[in-house]
Amino acid sequence: MSQSGVGASVAIRGRLLWFDGDPTLEGAAALRFVEDGVVVVEGGMITAVGEARDLLGRLRPNLPLADHRPHLVMPGFIDPHLHMPQTQVIGSYGAELMEWLAKYTFPEESRYGDPAVADAASRFLLSELLRSGTTTAAVYCTSHPQSVDSFFAAAERLGLRMIAGKVMMDRNAPAALLDTAERGYSETKALIERWHGRGRLSYAITPRFAPTSSEQQLEAARALASDHPGLHIQTHLSENAAEIAYVREAFPWSKDYTEVYEHYDLVRPKALFGHCIHLSDRERAALAEAGASAIFCPTSNLFLGSGLFDRAGLMEAGAQIGIASDIGGGTSYSMLRTAAEGYKVLALLGQPLDALAAFHMLTAGNAAALGLDDRIGRLAPGYEADLTVLDSRATPAQSWRMERVETLAEELFVLMTMGDDRATVATYAAGRRLYEKGGRSLPGKQEMPVSAPTRGPGEGGEAQ
Ligand SMILES: [Zn+2]
Repeated sequence: MSQSGVGASVAIRGRLLWFDGDPTLEGAAALRFVEDGVVVVEGGMITAVGEARDLLGRLRPNLPLADHRPHLVMPGFIDPHLHMPQTQVIGSYGAELMEWLAKYTFPEESRYGDPAVADAASRFLLSELLRSGTTTAAVYCTSHPQSVDSFFAAAERLGLRMIAGKVMMDRNAPAALLDTAERGYSETKALIERWHGRGRLSYAITPRFAPTSSEQQLEAARALASDHPGLHIQTHLSENAAEIAYVREAFPWSKDYTEVYEHYDLVRPKALFGHCIHLSDRERAALAEAGASAIFCPTSNLFLGSGLFDRAGLMEAGAQIGIASDIGGGTSYSMLRTAAEGYKVLALLGQPLDALAAFHMLTAGNAAALGLDDRIGRLAPGYEADLTVLDSRATPAQSWRMERVETLAEELFVLMTMGDDRATVATYAAGRRLYEKGGRSLPGKQEMPVSAPTRGPGEGGEAQ
């Protein structure tokens, strides 16, 4: 595979699928599907997308062709909320949010002052995301600036589009994790200067959530946000009853949880609020009006018993919605599993999530929630060539089920309901194949991506 800089050049053939609109609003008209299509990538950017019969004869000589028929080729999945330092506390037993943080998460995050720990976890996380077909994520590191350096350095080596930030927290946690209002400000400032806009990396101002930041620290977050109006902000909002009760006590002047963030000018476009479960009509309207995004974390919300995300209510209010893994409160790296659990949460509310809406959320919808829908989330000329290749028959159970599937919508629903990382055939970022099923994966200790994958049986040939 020829490569220049971070981006590679390649033609990718398969069953192409993406969304040019929102199927929740436009129905099937939003879907683009090409049964035998080609995505042409030059220098990491998509330059053409169309029917194989039209494009194959026009490819420039020597452009490598990766033939992924009969698999689906989609934009890479986008995960707008997860925690890098929680990959080794996933599946910790028996606690709701506040106890889970105190008992498992904070002691674990305390280890991340050690760069070796943060380096290894960053590499592991990225490798696992790629194995799940995820190419972009919004990531919480720990309060240690080194954890952000580790994560961004690992993402930069792979040429990934990633968003991350140092958690700001100056109260209600072990001393090893606490910064101060001043240190949170200056460390964040230095990290923004070091990393934001470098390659495909973006910095997110990251006050963990109101319970772990003093008013002085939220004031510092406001100053950072005001100095950097284009930056992402990420935090948590209204996940759990005890958390909400604590916020009411700690910020007695505020009429509700959302107003705490509004007061410090943290509710704005590209502000990502994880959970948003127990919001009032006023709070939903406030998020919508400000252009902020509510991030649905279904596996986490079920695992921690936090509650059910009211997608219809937020949509009615006009709020931008994303769906995320929330590793490690969440229990799966797979966005397919995440969508499947999202379906079940919404089923409990009588709000079925159809497959088109779900796959839109995992791609273009999450890109819009991140304010990045002009560059990722679609297969279109001018977009960055981040793609995932999926096998709807990855397991015996899926293959058996597929024998009775007649439509694309059915296939997609089965894929999201039964699929997981085993469905990922290959993952590309900026045109480089960083993961291939059955090929060398990206183990935690390996520095560089797989650039010359071996050909898997039954996966079609690759003409070089
Ligand atoms: Zn979270």
